[in-house]
Amino acid sequence: MSKVLNFKQELTACFGQPVSENPTQVMMEAAYRHHGLDWRYLTIEVAPNDLAAGVAGARAMGFRGFNCTIPHKVAVIAHLDGLGESASLMGAVNCVVRRGEKLIGENTDGKGFVKSLKELVDPTGKRAVIFGAGGAARAIGVEVALAGATEITIVNRSPSRGKELVALLTDKVRVKTNLVAWDQDYVVPEGVDIVINATSIGLFPDVDARLALDVNSLRSGMVVADVIPNPPKTRLVRDATARGCKVIDGLGMLVNQGIIGVHYWSGIEPDAAVMRKALEDVFGA
Ligand code: NDP
Repeated sequence: MSKVLNFKQELTACFGQPVSENPTQVMMEAAYRHHGLDWRYLTIEVAPNDLAAGVAGARAMGFRGFNCTIPHKVAVIAHLDGLGESASLMGAVNCVVRRGEKLIGENTDGKGFVKSLKELVDPTGKRAVIFGAGGAARAIGVEVALAGATEITIVNRSPSRGKELVALLTDKVRVKTNLVAWDQDYVVPEGVDIVINATSIGLFPDVDARLALDVNSLRSGMVVADVIPNPPKTRLVRDATARGCKVIDGLGMLVNQGIIGVHYWSGIEPDAAVMRKALEDVFGA
């Protein structure tokens, strides 16, 4: 039996509440069952000091791969045999894939986001605004740029983190990028096609937390995306829907990064509807 190991640490940071049932595990195993794969997706906590042993164990037991999350996304790289292009640019791995005898680090967060985005708009030649400069913003910024966006604006509270992301996008991904200090309600400029919340604002339990954004500057036809998976109908998602925008919720990104992971590990293209339904059941959406 093939296995997939999920290094669980600080899931509260990802989903906003302690989870007895890891939503990603429920979603992945729903896909495995649906496609008749006799596989498991296990949730296993690995302490930072045990990371090398954890990866060695996955190798020794012939795991097809594993996801890893905070705080292992950067540290895991030292224990792998190579990196995919975007993981290498980002310097962060959330998905490890066994290819032959090698363990290769990939990053599916941004790829999952772009897969959702492409269902609504072709990013080629588009201008995007991203709120946030943390791990999610980094992954999304790199992939949106690789997908052909021509200009990215990073809007972030802390200037130092914002500058780091702008330097990465400008120098390594070679996309025109600028930084806006986020100290008041942001007005989306004319000509912006895509607006993305990649901060943790709105995550359970702070569901009423407001993104400092002038919602009147969201225009009909614009694509507005939120990375928050719990709850999926965030305040931003509701405001953008009311303004006639095309909206992507955080479940879309979560499902799509899962689809890419299952594809890397098994070669099959899993059913998105089955995976989304499993998540909606967990979140009561
Ligand atoms: P990080 O901690 O790395 O970054 C958080 C970002 O949010 C920072 O830019 C931080 O700004 C900003 N931020 C947080 N609170 C505030 C606030 N009150 N006002 C202004 N800015 C704020 O987290 P991640 O990037 O890893 O994760 C962000 C969110 O993305 C999480 O909620 C997670 O659930 C979600 N996510 C969703 C995924 C999905 O598949 N749907 C996948 C991965 C993540 P500053 O730099 O100033 O501190």
